[in-house]
Amino acid sequence: MTVQAIANAAYVAAALLFIMSLAGLSKHETGRTGIRYGVAGMAIAMAATIWLAFSGEWSDSSLIGLGLLIVALIVGGVIGFWRARVVAMTGMPELIALFHSFVGLTAVLVGWNGALHVKEMSAALAAVHSAEVFIGVFIGAITFTGSIVAYLKLSAKMSSKPLILPGRNYINLAALAGFVGLTVAYVITPELGLLIAVTVLALALGWHLVASIGGGDMPVVVSMLNSYSGWAAAATGFLLSNNLLIVTGALVGSSGAYLSYIMCKAMNRSFVSVIFGGYGIEAAPQGEEETGEHTETDAASVAELLSSAKTVVITPGYGMAVAQAQYPVAELAKRLREKGVEVLFGIHPVAGRLPGHMNVLLAEAKVPYDIVLEMDEINDDLAKTQVVLVIGANDTVNPAATENPSSPIAGMPVLRVWEAENVIVFKRSMASGYAGVANPLFFKPNAKMLFGDAKERVNDILKAL
Ligand code: NDP
Repeated sequence: MTVQAIANAAYVAAALLFIMSLAGLSKHETGRTGIRYGVAGMAIAMAATIWLAFSGEWSDSSLIGLGLLIVALIVGGVIGFWRARVVAMTGMPELIALFHSFVGLTAVLVGWNGALHVKEMSAALAAVHSAEVFIGVFIGAITFTGSIVAYLKLSAKMSSKPLILPGRNYINLAALAGFVGLTVAYVITPELGLLIAVTVLALALGWHLVASIGGGDMPVVVSMLNSYSGWAAAATGFLLSNNLLIVTGALVGSSGAYLSYIMCKAMNRSFVSVIFGGYGIEAAPQGEEETGEHTETDAASVAELLSSAKTVVITPGYGMAVAQAQYPVAELAKRLREKGVEVLFGIHPVAGRLPGHMNVLLAEAKVPYDIVLEMDEINDDLAKTQVVLVIGANDTVNPAATENPSSPIAGMPVLRVWEAENVIVFKRSMASGYAGVANPLFFKPNAKMLFGDAKERVNDILKAL
């Protein structure tokens, strides 16, 4: 068997492991196994690629190449491992955005490298190759600057307000038309100037596409950039004639696109608008005017209420992650269940700051999976629930989404917690949530505010119980 055939077999095995990894990641119970499949697939893929690259004639230059590659692997691996270990769960979307920018940059660099080989090819092959170079550079450069803007917006280093340039949709369309024109010109005559032009055009387009989107839509943008980074990797795969990169890129591209679609549905956003960078809802100023009187409560009264309840639903949000309250919350659920109270968790698809954020925290605190329900599974039962504990959630339980058609979050499906008999809202102040929209839930007659850090307040309730 030739080296190439063995590498191809290893690639098929790696591709299968990646597919099994995605399948595993779609359920809590199999998530860890899914990650292991992914790691195994990546290890096989890298070993096979390195072996393939250096399996030809051994020379001094291949030794230098191997040495450089090992140094790059170690440096990259150490930095990646360190960043992933120290990042707080709440900082995950930023880190992911930054990682996507590297994939984009790689596609640009591989594209430019590919351009150097065009002159060595026959005319027919050169034409196809030139088109591949352009597509790779274009998608890669959009992903690169788009991901950097997403990172800057998510880490509050840049205003999260959408950039509204006059005729922005025409600017995007003109950039697309420019790309098509430049590609045709490059296929006919592969001039360096055209390559520079398309790189600059795509860098500017990536920046503009994401800058035009408001902070509230950033989660969708991150997952969309994930998809773009997949297509950039696939384009790189065509350039390098690497089948595994094509398959893996397509897997990332399509799963990222599907995730964006699910998130758009959960936030009632138009998928097409977000993809084309046009949505951009301007967030209302933080802490909008109050719309009534709110009632405060204390931990002892909540403990009493919980002791006499038969059904309790806990709806966590971003504040639970900030307070790291998942452990006392899990303990509270356990204690109440031991007392015979039916306790369920209701999870909104975009609660927290990344998809699945709450599920990860609750799994970490060993909350049994069977009591953690999705929004759609629990919403109809909320009206029959005696007590709902809203722990650090705000936008995801905001009645304005269903009651106020002029609200910036109008139409976004939310957990209808206000239908329950009693609602206890754990938060530190009357401030608004991520979308910057005032929440009329706080002023409903059946809602009471339990102010303070969520972890401290839940601990107080545990003591009082
Ligand atoms: P929100 O961001 O709407 O609200 C969180 C609330 O938690 C705040 O109002 C805050 O109020 C409170 N809080 C913060 N720290 C603490 C603390 N230590 N103790 C108690 N409360 C605290 O959260 P949701 O989860 O309801 O909604 C998520 C929002 O984030 C949505 O708008 C969603 O679109 C967006 N988003 C979602 C992403 C995803 O993929 N899941 C990614 C990025 C954004 P106070 O300051 O008064 O304490």
